[in-house]
Amino acid sequence: MSDERHQQRMQRKKAVVDERIRQATQTRGVLILLKGNGKGKSSSALGTLARSLGHGQRGAVVQFIKGRFETGEYLFFRDHPRLEWHIMGQGFTWETQDRTRDVEAAQAAWVTAKGLLENPSLDIVVLDEMSYMFKYDYLDVAPVVEALKNRPAHQNVIITGRTIATPLQEIADTISVVQDERHAFRAGVKAQKGIEY
Ligand code: ATP
Ligand code: MG
Repeated sequence: MSDERHQQRMQRKKAVVDERIRQATQTRGVLILLKGNGKGKSSSALGTLARSLGHGQRGAVVQFIKGRFETGEYLFFRDHPRLEWHIMGQGFTWETQDRTRDVEAAQAAWVTAKGLLENPSLDIVVLDEMSYMFKYDYLDVAPVVEALKNRPAHQNVIITGRTIATPLQEIADTISVVQDERHAFRAGVKAQKGIEY
């Protein structure tokens, strides 16, 4: 491509981008959903949390599923002065297979999460793996939608999980699908410290 054509193309592109920037005039909190079967949902949510904390903002995390390990991200973030990190009660894991206990833990975690969604001092709230709570009917989605709608106007919320309930998708501002094309696990690579947890 000639230099001149390249320059014309970039000029047109800049005009389009400038126009889009001009039209984006609102400043408000957004609801972000990260879904799909691929690897990268929770780590994206926590990357955004780091971004927010880096700017001096305040945040909170509720982990609705407790894995078997103390994760690297928990060990990294837990002492941060502007962050609170909650891990759901006993912790739902694939291992417990005790529905009553899981429902109780889910509801207790929701009480915590609801308090965060009412707290105007929080700039960002991450509800990690919350989508499973609806999938297994551990929680009703309607009160969650209500709480999200009524949260402080500046508060950003990120919800992760492989499949996300339709009522949440209806009120989301940003939805990203993390698609699974390949995963090392299927080639026999063990879950690794620093990568999986
Ligand atoms: P990450 O925490 O790495 O961002 P995730 O939140 O997108 O992953 P989850 O569905 O929460 O993924 O799964 C949690 C764990 O399962 C992580 O350790 C992740 O590496 C692993 N995992 C995610 N996707 C896959 C997959 N397609 N196959 C096998 N393991 C996966
Ligand atoms: Mg996850």
